[in-house]
Amino acid sequence: MERICPRCGISSGTKKFFGDFCEDCYLSKIDLTLPERIEVQFCKICRKVRVAKWEGLNKNVLENIVKKNAKGNYESFHVLSCGDNQYEAVFLVSNGSDYFEVRRKFSLKMNNSTCEECSRETSGYYEAIVQIRGKNIEKWSARIVRELRGRTFVSKYIQLDEGVDLYVGSKKTVAEVLDVLKLKSKVSDQLYGVKDGRRVYRRTYCIRV
Ligand SMILES: [Zn+2]
Ligand SMILES: [Zn+2]
Repeated sequence: MERICPRCGISSGTKKFFGDFCEDCYLSKIDLTLPERIEVQFCKICRKVRVAKWEGLNKNVLENIVKKNAKGNYESFHVLSCGDNQYEAVFLVSNGSDYFEVRRKFSLKMNNSTCEECSRETSGYYEAIVQIRGKNIEKWSARIVRELRGRTFVSKYIQLDEGVDLYVGSKKTVAEVLDVLKLKSKVSDQLYGVKDGRRVYRRTYCIRV
């Protein structure tokens, strides 16, 4: 039997129907919203974005952005990139045993900012000094710098008569890298200030290579 969509007047002979409405009218009534423009913090130096934490804009981050901003019921979704900070989220929505796709376009508005790592780096901040001493200084300092880069920053590289001193952003990362490279170090702490009522130490790692 032919049905007529009460909203747009189209006949069921020419369109698929869901209940009383044609597919288009049914989809347009679905209460699933996503803002057309979503603002995210963007580090202009390392080009990372901040959603939960600072990280590169990848598939996971995009999905988190949609999850945080979409309102309504859906089974699942995926995100398509349309270039130039334009995206489309394709939601799978169910109605009884029927499944259909609901598409919502959105753009990311990148708000320029500087992440903690980059602002520390540009201000010359460091948490640790790695002193490299011994016979194979060149080889080992190159290896250590290679391991550190990408995980933290090396704000200074000082060539001394007795070896090389590296000024490094994160002492936790230094410990991890020395562990990976199986290098033993002599550690000493030096008080350099108080932050939020707690004493803050800079750590020196001395390595013989
Ligand atoms: Zn209709
Ligand atoms: Zn950054």
